[in-house]
Amino acid sequence: MIEGLPAEGVPAERVLAELRGLREADLPTHGGRLFAYVYDPDIAGLDELARAAYAISAHVNGLDPTAFPSLLAMENALVAAAGRLLGAGPGTAAPAMAGSVTSGGTESLLLAVKAARDAATTDAPRIVVPSTAHAAFAKAAHYLRVGLDVVPAGDDLRADVAATAERIGPDTVLVAGSAPSYAHGVVDPIPELAALAAERGVRFHVDACFGGWVLPYLRRLGADLPPFGFDVPGVTSISVDLHKYAYAPKGVSVLLHRDASLRLPQFFAYADWPGYTMVNPVVSSTRSGGPIAAALATLRHIGDDGYLALAAKTRDAVGVLAAAVQATAGVRLFAPPETTVVCLATEPDVDPFVLADELAARGWHTQPQLAYGKLPPTLHLTVTAAVSGTAAEFAPGLAEAVAATRARGPVPLPPELARAAGALTPEQVTPELIEGLAAGLGLGDGATGPMAAVNSLLDAAPPALREALLAGFLSLLQRPAW
Ligand SMILES: *Cc1c(COP(=O)(O)O)cnc(C)c1O
Repeated sequence: MIEGLPAEGVPAERVLAELRGLREADLPTHGGRLFAYVYDPDIAGLDELARAAYAISAHVNGLDPTAFPSLLAMENALVAAAGRLLGAGPGTAAPAMAGSVTSGGTESLLLAVKAARDAATTDAPRIVVPSTAHAAFAKAAHYLRVGLDVVPAGDDLRADVAATAERIGPDTVLVAGSAPSYAHGVVDPIPELAALAAERGVRFHVDACFGGWVLPYLRRLGADLPPFGFDVPGVTSISVDLHKYAYAPKGVSVLLHRDASLRLPQFFAYADWPGYTMVNPVVSSTRSGGPIAAALATLRHIGDDGYLALAAKTRDAVGVLAAAVQATAGVRLFAPPETTVVCLATEPDVDPFVLADELAARGWHTQPQLAYGKLPPTLHLTVTAAVSGTAAEFAPGLAEAVAATRARGPVPLPPELARAAGALTPEQVTPELIEGLAAGLGLGDGATGPMAAVNSLLDAAPPALREALLAGFLSLLQRPAW
């Protein structure tokens, strides 16, 4: 436990030592063995550069670009860079593109949905997304009170064009697809979906939060991927996270619209109070310039040639990991490794959640994905350039982990927990029940360590119960450190 407000101030060096101490409990953000949450290009000196850039602008406030033109210049540069990468700019099909810098992919999607909602005349707006679309669309629909029409993806894990056509109705304000989907790393048929939306006069958003900064380079390297940028007719907006494959520190994404009139309903302006007249392009009002300056420094230092080289390294690492999966009995590729994700499923005698723990015990941190509809549980690996340095060691690690998983068998859920997962309703999930479950699963104060029991319990529960259980667990973790 660390005290937030000590009675007497603590010397700077000690404060930093304390922070470093806390960080030791975290997963390793560098080293090419963590396949989620972090994006590592493995470039010497890049962290130091981003830190220094962050420090220069940390106290600059994005609230008012006339007071801080430095931030306006940096944001305009980031938006232009993203636009150029995604088919906009002078001499392209989208010469009048306009965009905003947001704090992350979720905010970019939230604002894409808001812009579509507020531009529409219906008073019961709805959006249509494939079942593989990121959960942030559901969050946007929930926050903005917009209806969510989820279209089951096809057996190839891609958005189903014909089924999408049937779901677009008079109240549909936005249709979306992913380039690629986070869970499986496959690219939706963006040209077909966008044409469909255009035919019906509906906006179409490309969620390229994950892949927007790497797919253009993979295509330049010859990858057979469909177009997904503004060169595709009907695409009205695109989101791309700079804190993913642009390798910027956390807190920066970009939302681009084909033109400024499409962007305008994204803004919020308010003059009806006695304080300053407020105009916010994004959700936050006061915003730090730190992440924006760090992102710009990262882009300028790596450069177009650097990103091309990083994409080649990433592509090669994906190939090595995918080959390891294919060569290992007991696991198989669940999705084609066509972008930067390796998604694997297991044979019946290999419990996927135990496998995740066994891999973690060997230093490989994958992300379990629970069963959903017809889809079995899988392990997700986000591959970044740093993995090119470790990929060759993955095959032996995987083989060992699979053998250990087979030897252990599935995690035995205490029968009362298994029953609970089958019979509980979300309304029955009280703080007391959660505390009992946490004790039954042997969870201490942290959420680190073997997670197979937790994942098995969640996997046995339907989605609404999963949500209630996870909210309960999080609430248990997030308590004041008195
Ligand atoms: C990561 C991601 C998001 C959400 O982005 P955050 O930065 O985590 O808010 C949305 N869509 C896709 C496809 C993503 O990969």
